Amino acid sequence: MNEKLIIFSAPSGAGKTTIVRHLLSKYADQLAFSISACTRQPRENEVDGKDYYFISQEDFLHKIAQKEFVEFEEVYAGTYYGTLRSEIERIWAGQKAVMFDIDVIGGLHLKNKFKEKALAIFVQPPSLEVLSKRLFGRGTDTIDKLNERIEKAKKELEYADQFDVILENDNLEKACERAEQLIENFLFDRNNES
Ligand code: 5GP
Repeated sequence: MNEKLIIFSAPSGAGKTTIVRHLLSKYADQLAFSISACTRQPRENEVDGKDYYFISQEDFLHKIAQKEFVEFEEVYAGTYYGTLRSEIERIWAGQKAVMFDIDVIGGLHLKNKFKEKALAIFVQPPSLEVLSKRLFGRGTDTIDKLNERIEKAKKELEYADQFDVILENDNLEKACERAEQLIENFLFDRNNES
């Protein structure tokens, strides 16, 4: 397979992680998840080296200086996230396309860098109200953190047009089906966009 990348970006709470997980299990032979490095603490159930490489800020800054990241960002104040060059190379070496679950600005950086090698998909939540409800329902963050995520989401919705595709997620099952079509068209070079 050619060296390809599939980027899923969205405000947090839009459902992108669920869609990404679905695709990774359906296309396990074709796709592998790009594990980002980040400096936040793991949540319950999160595993180092599977969900993220959880590293210290010092280590992160060192890797920036060593130019080990293809993109990185201070996604929330004091919390860094980034994609390691070695991660993309690891996945391509295994003859798979790289799957990203990444914030909106990071997603656009990758698209601009990799151009037609990359398919950039923006997952659009039905509304800010639904997004807020989903985030509060998750119960994994403090109120301050939640408000920060919601403020960030408002700004991120403005970038949707810059992606190759906007995937609406008001119904998860339909969104997953549409995502499957998009991925198949892109991976197998089909032009019959439907
Ligand atoms: P969370 O803390 O909820 O896991 O992630 C916060 C945000 O950071 C999400 O939008 C997630 O997609 C994004 N993110 C995860 N990895 C990366 C990365 O490598 N680079 C960038 N720019 N954002 C990332």
